[in-house]
Amino acid sequence: MESEQAASLPPLYLVDLSPLLAEPSGGSFALEPFTVEDRLDEELFTAAAQIRIDRTNRGVRIVGTVRGRQEGLCGRCLTPAATQLEADIDEEALEQRHATDGALLIGKGNGVDVGRLAVEALDLVRHLVLRCAPPCPERCGLCGANHPSSDCPERGIDPRMAGLATLLPSDDDEGAPIG
Ligand SMILES: [Zn+2]
Ligand SMILES: [Zn+2]
Repeated sequence: MESEQAASLPPLYLVDLSPLLAEPSGGSFALEPFTVEDRLDEELFTAAAQIRIDRTNRGVRIVGTVRGRQEGLCGRCLTPAATQLEADIDEEALEQRHATDGALLIGKGNGVDVGRLAVEALDLVRHLVLRCAPPCPERCGLCGANHPSSDCPERGIDPRMAGLATLLPSDDDEGAPIG
């Protein structure tokens, strides 16, 4: 039952653990570095992983580092934006006979999707909102255009205040000489 959800996602980078599981605890092997990508919530994650897998007494321990990229749209101006991410992986995957609640299990055929682990590691450190780099200007709170609210041409004087405004000293006359 537990594996049904995992099985519905296509594996990104499946590793056959059979040779390692045939060894006693203490065996270890380093995977060739690999790169995978996947879409999460409309954003593209590219993960380059360096991973080592150690045999434990109840499964394997998967240790490594992932570097990658998160690509999507800037939360402010909605143009494409991206950021670099980096994360560590340290997961134990258990053999079925040692299964416990919530544990990561080694799948049928002794496969573990280390690509999925790499993408999930980046997902944990993802930026909640992407921003342009260098930062795009703040959007106008009045009309949504590409200028600060204080420069907005739509920032007219409230008609109810217009009469009052003529009574106030004008401090924003353009071109007024300073000093
Ligand atoms: Zn932007
Ligand atoms: Zn504006």
